Amino acid sequence: MVTEKQVVAALDNVMDPELRKSITALGMVRKVKIRGGDVEVTIALTTLACPLSGSIAEDVRKAVQALDGVAKVDVKLEEMTDEERARALASVKGQQQEEGMAAHLNRIQHVLAVMSGKGGVGKSLVTAQLAVALRRRGLRVGILDADITGPSIPKILGLNDRPASTPLGIAPVKSKTGIRVMSINLLLPNEDDAVIWRGPLIGGAIKQFWGDVFWGDLDYLLIDLPPGTADAPLTVMQSIPLNGIILVTSPQELAGMVVRKAAQMALQLHVPMLGIVENMSYAICPHCGERLDIFGPSHTAEAAALMGVPLLGQIPIDPRIATLSDEGALEDYESAAFESVADELLKRVPEKQTKPIL
Ligand code: ADP
Repeated sequence: MVTEKQVVAALDNVMDPELRKSITALGMVRKVKIRGGDVEVTIALTTLACPLSGSIAEDVRKAVQALDGVAKVDVKLEEMTDEERARALASVKGQQQEEGMAAHLNRIQHVLAVMSGKGGVGKSLVTAQLAVALRRRGLRVGILDADITGPSIPKILGLNDRPASTPLGIAPVKSKTGIRVMSINLLLPNEDDAVIWRGPLIGGAIKQFWGDVFWGDLDYLLIDLPPGTADAPLTVMQSIPLNGIILVTSPQELAGMVVRKAAQMALQLHVPMLGIVENMSYAICPHCGERLDIFGPSHTAEAAALMGVPLLGQIPIDPRIATLSDEGALEDYESAAFESVADELLKRVPEKQTKPIL
């Protein structure tokens, strides 16, 4: 008759494909029950949502079935307790330091990067408002503030708690409505401190925000990129799997070269450009409600069509945006323009993600 020892020895050879370590070493084998030739094995997974749970169960079944004296194998899947999970992950910490342990636990369905040719066009504002609009639709949303030298997301969402360090990774800070945020500003001793870093260090911080932050389960992670086409946006495009890019411009800028350069960069790196958001497009007269095309008639739609990128929407200049951003209360801002941009965007997000090359 087969013994428990033999079963466990056989399971030593079954690997967790994600953590790349034996399931016995990870403490995943909870129980082995033997009745005659029938063996029942209970496995505790780091999460039951693990897409590879089926393949682990099959590997376990095969390994035990191959033993002499085994007639039938039953594999039961359970979920680890927080403590068990922390212990399992701590045991692979050294092994995975390079790539970040949290990345293996995060289940992020869609990752969108928000880009602009120049600073000051409202890229951070659009990122935050899109997050707010998606959150209002009941989606689980995070913002990775990759604008390392000019981080503004925490300020406009009124965040100043420090991210907690947990066994699973750094925990993002939650906004009033539950948007999970990670930004260099939350880690600085003083939020006005300047980050004077060169490209490689900035790229390293962005990679850590991806790999070492325990985002958990998210429907959408929005990445607020630094303006332009320099090192940092390149790092994001090459090292983080993306579903697409959103380009934010102002009306004067759209016809200019910087926007075309940004679009060109996305094209060369094979990241789908999902659409353009034109910010500060027009103003509404506070007295009569008339739309004022301050910059003359808009040519945005034509320019976007020439670039082959859809125009997701136009956002007016609204003094309330500036006031609420200053107060850290942007989540209270309601605007039909942003809701419509979010709807247009959601129609266009592909399920496929790019494959990182770095
Ligand atoms: P970027 O991230 O592109 O550098 P920000 O999002 O920080 O730009 O916006 C720059 C400034 O312009 C902020 O003070 C912001 O509150 C303000 N702003 C952006 N868009 C609008 C708008 N549509 N109406 C009024 N103020 C705006």
